[in-house]
Order: sequence, then C-alpha cells, then structure tokens
Amino acid sequence: MPHVSCAHCGTAITHHETMQESAGKTYCCRNCLAMASGATTEGTGQPFCAHCESTIVDQSTAVHRGSQSFCCENCADAVSAGATRGSA
Ligand SMILES: [Zn+2]
Ligand SMILES: [Zn+2]
Repeated sequence: MPHVSCAHCGTAITHHETMQESAGKTYCCRNCLAMASGATTEGTGQPFCAHCESTIVDQSTAVHRGSQSFCCENCADAVSAGATRGSA
C-alpha cells in the first residue's frame, strides 16, 4: 500500500496526523469523515475546502493559504502539487 487516499475525496494522505478511520475506511481528515457520514448540514454558511469541497466543520485541521481554505494539509498539498480533484 504505497499511498493511502481519502475514501471521500480521493486526496492522497501524506499528513497522517489529520487522518481519520471509520468503518474500515480512511479519510484525510474529520471534515471528509463528517461529509461521508452525513453529519454535516449544507447551507449553513460554513466554509468549504477549495480542493475537495467538503464543508470545514473541524477548524482544527483547516489550512488557509492565500484566499483559499482547505479542510486539511492533505488537500492543501494536493493543490500545490498540481493534482486534480478526484484522481486516485
Ligand atoms: Zn478527504
Ligand atoms: Zn479537502
């Protein structure tokens, strides 16, 4: 298993400190886990990730670069690396 990727957004997980596991699946951070489990409510005006569009419910893992916000370091790195959303 050379690379672990998020079961929700497909982002390569290079920052394991924000990684979450639930029901045998791996997520890049709690925000994607919340999206996958349906725990988030859309339309509440909360910020969302500029890479995977998950609602950022856990600000503790959020990353802000310039005017963009990301759910966690994994998505921030994926963008800076030039990866496209959804590619595994
Ligand atoms: Zn994710
Ligand atoms: Zn994201």
